[in-house]
Amino acid sequence: MELFEVTEGKAKILVPKAESIYDSPVFYNPRMALNRDVVVLLLKVLKPKIVLDALSATGIRGIRFALETPAEEVWLNDISLEAYELMKRNVLLNFPGELKEESNRAILEGEKRIVVNHDDANRLMAEKHRYFHFIDLDPFGSPMEFLDTALRSVKRKGILGVTATDGAPLCGAHPKACLRKYLAVPLRGELCHEVGTRILVGIIARYAAKYDLGIEVLLAYYKDHYFRAFVRLRDGARKGDESLENLGYVYFDERTGKFEIERGFLPTRPNAYGPVWLGPLKNEDIVNEMFELVKKGVELARPREALKLMHMLHEELDIPLFYDTHAIGKRIKVETKKLGEIIKALWKRGYRATRTHFSPTGIKTDAPYEVFVEVMKRL
Ligand code: SAM
Repeated sequence: MELFEVTEGKAKILVPKAESIYDSPVFYNPRMALNRDVVVLLLKVLKPKIVLDALSATGIRGIRFALETPAEEVWLNDISLEAYELMKRNVLLNFPGELKEESNRAILEGEKRIVVNHDDANRLMAEKHRYFHFIDLDPFGSPMEFLDTALRSVKRKGILGVTATDGAPLCGAHPKACLRKYLAVPLRGELCHEVGTRILVGIIARYAAKYDLGIEVLLAYYKDHYFRAFVRLRDGARKGDESLENLGYVYFDERTGKFEIERGFLPTRPNAYGPVWLGPLKNEDIVNEMFELVKKGVELARPREALKLMHMLHEELDIPLFYDTHAIGKRIKVETKKLGEIIKALWKRGYRATRTHFSPTGIKTDAPYEVFVEVMKRL
């Protein structure tokens, strides 16, 4: 395997040379640097001590956790032997000292404890029951085969970070796959990224509940074809019950673009999409602290993109779903005005309204559909 050196954030790592990232014997996607920046920001704010990068590939994520966050013990794991060998090299490229190796595990005891592990992530997480303060699941496609074990391996008040790159199921292009993986009916069309994000959070809440655990969403978002959710577990049966109260369904009229939401464990009408999480998608204080860190110029791999994303997430109204101005404009046959103008017109009428990161043409507002359409027509 021919290697070359890459710098990302504070880390230097060797990655394989390959025609495309998908042909590489060990996976490294520079476009996910922003995804890693955001988790670094979160860990800087929340300061979990023992953290696991369960599907580590080159080790870049875990190495960045060790270099850029206050984590004291960082585990890097991958099932691939080539990845394991490369993770060890990459750890030694960034930290002084020696790796002590025994069977499938190599440990560096330095200022921080770094453990490089070669195993199936589910087996490692089953071995380390309620051990980690934070676990990051960053798989190829769906995280579902790892979710249950991760919920047992993270502490009862720990934090879980989940990436899903399987947009086709979550966005409704492959609805049967969404039923199989996420036990939910997805919604195709303009709202699919938000509904997909809410399906992902919803299944985490449902899986957590059986362990008498609730969830608090710290941040959930969609970016560059992946869905991302960070949740903090809340201990106790009552917390589990409270979480389930945030589940519900979406009804969507394709003809008009009007949506309705309904809370409840079961839908009361036909043609419901979900179940989805209808609770908050962010903890305002935590997102604010993350945003402040970026504004202060903390070292990141993609500082400008991170600033833009955190600004958007910080400003965005945290209510379910949005109106897509282009899609609705086409339906009601009016030319779409600038988003800023529509938002101001809604403010003038006493409604809250912001842009949404889920769509460059979307507006989140508490205005009823009929008011939104009237504003679009009158402008
Ligand atoms: N987290 C990495 C990053 O930020 O660059 C990328 C991880 S890559 C998308 C997914 C990795 O999961 C691959 O390296 C693959 O070998 C590994 N993997 C797949 N199935 C696994 C399993 N059951 N247990 C552990 N690792 C697994």
